[in-house]
Amino acid sequence: MKPNYNYKNVAETYLFSNIAKKVNAYLAENPEKSVLRLGIGDVTLPLAPAVIEAMHEAVDEMGKKETFKGYGPEQGYAFLRESIQAYYARRGVTLSTDEIFVSDGAKSDCGNILDLFGTENSVLVPDPVYPVYVDTNVMAGRKISYMQATKENGFLPMPDEALKADIIYLCSPNNPTGAAYSKAQLKEWVDFAIANNAVILYDAAYECFVTDDAARSIFEVEGARKCAIELCSFSKTAGFTGTRCGYTVVPEELVFDGMSLRKMWLRRQTTKFNGVSYIVQKGAAAVFTEAGEKQIQDNLAYYRENAKLIAACMDECGIAYTGGKNSPYIWLQCPSGMTSWEFFDYLLKEIQVVGTPGSGFGRNGEGFFRLTAFGSRETTIEACKRMKALLKK
Ligand code: PLP
Repeated sequence: MKPNYNYKNVAETYLFSNIAKKVNAYLAENPEKSVLRLGIGDVTLPLAPAVIEAMHEAVDEMGKKETFKGYGPEQGYAFLRESIQAYYARRGVTLSTDEIFVSDGAKSDCGNILDLFGTENSVLVPDPVYPVYVDTNVMAGRKISYMQATKENGFLPMPDEALKADIIYLCSPNNPTGAAYSKAQLKEWVDFAIANNAVILYDAAYECFVTDDAARSIFEVEGARKCAIELCSFSKTAGFTGTRCGYTVVPEELVFDGMSLRKMWLRRQTTKFNGVSYIVQKGAAAVFTEAGEKQIQDNLAYYRENAKLIAACMDECGIAYTGGKNSPYIWLQCPSGMTSWEFFDYLLKEIQVVGTPGSGFGRNGEGFFRLTAFGSRETTIEACKRMKALLKK
């Protein structure tokens, strides 16, 4: 047996395990200190009551002979795919339910979707971005090029004739920078992908945070059905990080060398995946009910308020930042020329505030730092108080 040698090329530990190690080591030495965690992009509010109620009902159904469910459709139950279809329709996007695939989250789909593409394909990834795109492609041995997301281009790289690739990743609103593409900008990407016979993997995990007229789905853009796959998730929308549910949209029009990506994905999922639990899918469908929608919007408003507090704190400290508007992340420039990890250590040691070093998201992230609005209000307020005391000039 020969192992997959490509694994030698991925960094040994994942960014968040490094952070956890540092925090644990600090706490072991300073057990009396209270650490405020604004690092990992995990939610803190509980599931909405409508979701819980639907899940309870589903549990009861599973306990009765007449309503018990065994294996479900691998692609997801029709009731959930129809709810997702209606959610897109409300934004003017027409999808067939056959194009919607329910999964246990966007992270799995990000990795699994690569089954559809030959390893010889070249890949274009923004730098900085969610590290899973890079790692999953390195594991598969694909060649990766990077497009530069910098302060100068508002962290929104645009197509470049000198940087062509077969698979293009876009993440909007972006993790970690919080930058979101407009429809006009996405149209340029769609035209570029079509002209180059490329496919766009569009990660819309944070679409629910869009508050201005930035795109929430790439399918709002004309032509996108010919070149894009969209990955989305209930994690940030409805607090499903621990419950696990997401979905991927693969349009019928995606046919390359006579092969339909939609049919291939169906084949892949029916072969390697046995679907998301009925109980979880019932909970996910409740997100789209009137009560669910209202409760979820209240939760999102809570996180948005946290983002505003952090942004105001940065303003007071005179620290440049982006994000926080269409995104739960504040992406800030480390003060006094500190590197990302130097700033991480500084905040941890001086005020016990934990964020995420920007360098963990790519080379261009060096010198930047990500704070999340997903904490509790109390944690956010206390962290802002401590940051002001330390960083305000
Ligand atoms: N995509 C992006 C950009 C993310 O930041 C995350 C999680 O933080 C995910 C996908 C993963 O989402 P899920 O919880 O659905 O796996």
